[in-house]
Amino acid sequence: MGKYSSKINKIRTFALSLIFIGFIVMYGGIFFRTSPVIMTIFMLVGFLFIIASTIVYFWIGMLSTKTIQVVCPNCGKHTKMLGRVDMCMYCREPLTLDRDLEGKEFDETYNKKKL
Ligand SMILES: [Zn+2]
Repeated sequence: MGKYSSKINKIRTFALSLIFIGFIVMYGGIFFRTSPVIMTIFMLVGFLFIIASTIVYFWIGMLSTKTIQVVCPNCGKHTKMLGRVDMCMYCREPLTLDRDLEGKEFDETYNKKKL
């Protein structure tokens, strides 16, 4: 694994980890069966994580409408990119829409500089 991954994949991983955390917290509540209050708190917190993940998934859906479909120059597959620089979802080839940045070292900060 390289240092960078495609942004949408990163957010997707984050949403998935929220679901896992949610389930782990809810599962942890089982150990407090004798105390209904603590168990309820665990269940609620776990539920909140799952809600948060749903929101993140919704956000991914919103972002996906803003992505630009490009053909990767390296592997020739259709990939989606977000922002000025992103990475091919398949081969991790750095991609840019900005001609000034072409051929430069891949740097995610290019996305932030002009925003
Ligand atoms: Zn590629």
